[in-house]
Amino acid sequence: MEKFDAIVVGAGPAGVAAAATMARAGLSVVLLERGEYPGAKNVMGGVMYGRMAAEVVPEFWTQGAPIERVVVEERLWLATEDSAVSVGHRSPAMAYHPDGCPNAFTVLRARWDRWFAQKAEEAGALLVPGTTVEDVLWQDGRVVGVRTGREEGDLYAHVVVLCDGVNSALVQRAKLRDHPVEPHHLALGVKEVVGLPPEVIEARFNLEPGQGATIEIYGAVTRGMSGYGFLYTNHDSVSVGVGVLVSHLMRTRIPPYELLEGLKQHPLVRPLLAGGETLEYSAHAIPEGGLAAMPKLYGDGVLVAGDAAMMVNGLHREGSNLAMTAGRLAGETVVEAKRRGDFSARTLSLYAAKLEESFVLKDLRKYRHLPELAERRPDLFGTYAELANRAAHEMLTVDGVSKRDKQRKIWRELTRRRPLPFLTRDLYEVWKAIR
Ligand SMILES: Cc1cc2nc3c(=O)[nH]c(=O)nc-3n(C[C@H](O)[C@H](O)[C@H](O)COP(=O)(O)OP(=O)(O)OC[C@H]3O[C@@H](n4cnc5c(N)ncnc54)[C@H](O)[C@@H]3O)c2cc1C
Repeated sequence: MEKFDAIVVGAGPAGVAAAATMARAGLSVVLLERGEYPGAKNVMGGVMYGRMAAEVVPEFWTQGAPIERVVVEERLWLATEDSAVSVGHRSPAMAYHPDGCPNAFTVLRARWDRWFAQKAEEAGALLVPGTTVEDVLWQDGRVVGVRTGREEGDLYAHVVVLCDGVNSALVQRAKLRDHPVEPHHLALGVKEVVGLPPEVIEARFNLEPGQGATIEIYGAVTRGMSGYGFLYTNHDSVSVGVGVLVSHLMRTRIPPYELLEGLKQHPLVRPLLAGGETLEYSAHAIPEGGLAAMPKLYGDGVLVAGDAAMMVNGLHREGSNLAMTAGRLAGETVVEAKRRGDFSARTLSLYAAKLEESFVLKDLRKYRHLPELAERRPDLFGTYAELANRAAHEMLTVDGVSKRDKQRKIWRELTRRRPLPFLTRDLYEVWKAIR
């Protein structure tokens, strides 16, 4: 019976980071992926983060990485049915770190994951695609391997690293959580990739060749549910999508494809996509429960990283970077466990300590109250997006009314819609959730 140092389940950003880190340190690693190839069915809006990718594959941008566009501008729209107040930031300095590493860039996961996993293979990991892990194997109260769907498919290792994504059944099988993820801890993202010639994208989004832009849209596009729409530019396509809490979808019964169609038909979005051809449609869950909904991160012979561990910072649209960092730290922990010859929970608890020191748990801790607010107050974005648009409309309409009178009118409207005690409470709740 062959025994590996580590089995990694799932070749997404977390799994590849874990596998590459361990293989590079000389450990024997098998990386199991249920897709026909890594990324075959994976879905993401599409913004990856360079610093965390470079910690897994140094100078990846010089190695033929399938980068679609490097993000130079990020915009945020607070939208009503037919208007938007927009803020944003554009800066060539933001696009690259001083060493030339792109800060944020767009990807198509089918291409990126395949390339990224190849880097883990080059480091020495054994990638086995087309293989679904069905269960973890136990011996004397510790995880010792996995059962795959293949014939004679039991594999053994000192440690199993679970990176099997948001719908991980294995987290429960490994006794790291004793119940399934709850609907209010999940969002559903639906997305289309709309093909357009590169020069059309550059003209419409005000970009130079190779440059990319992101637009996040809050307000009417989610029809009273918590979530947001997005547009991200790729080389010759635009990813357009919307994500909302599953619990809100269950309550409103609005079909997700209707939300996406509504977003595409929004008067501010339609011209950006005009003439484009839908190349791909996909849907995927996003773990939005935050810190309070995280499973136990380690046990005897087992670790969990990425979406399977609820590591998403929804407010900042970050998930892939948390996954890559957690995967890398899980890998480093196993390397240390191998050095000590101890794969018990005592040594593997080092992983949680490393995460505490990293931005992963610091950020999830900072925003720990946000998921509860998003679940309880889906009205917030719609209400304030509408008020912001009314205020902008009033101030920008030149009709002979003095600016002070306009200001008074805006204030009256605001306090009519949200009387002062409610307004103060809203501000306090938002401040508490993001401070
Ligand atoms: C619509 C949408 C938009 C998003 N936009 C962004 C964004 O712009 N930026 C960002 O940073 N994040 C974004 N995210 C979040 C991001 O996609 C995830 O946080 C990230 O992919 C997590 O990586 P992971 O490796 O943990 O999981 P995944 O990427 O889900 O990878 C899990 C892998 O495990 C495999 N697998 C699952 N079960 C098994 C099994 N039993 N056996 C074998 N293999 C298995 C899967 O096939 C998959 O390859 C978005 C998510 C969605 C759904």
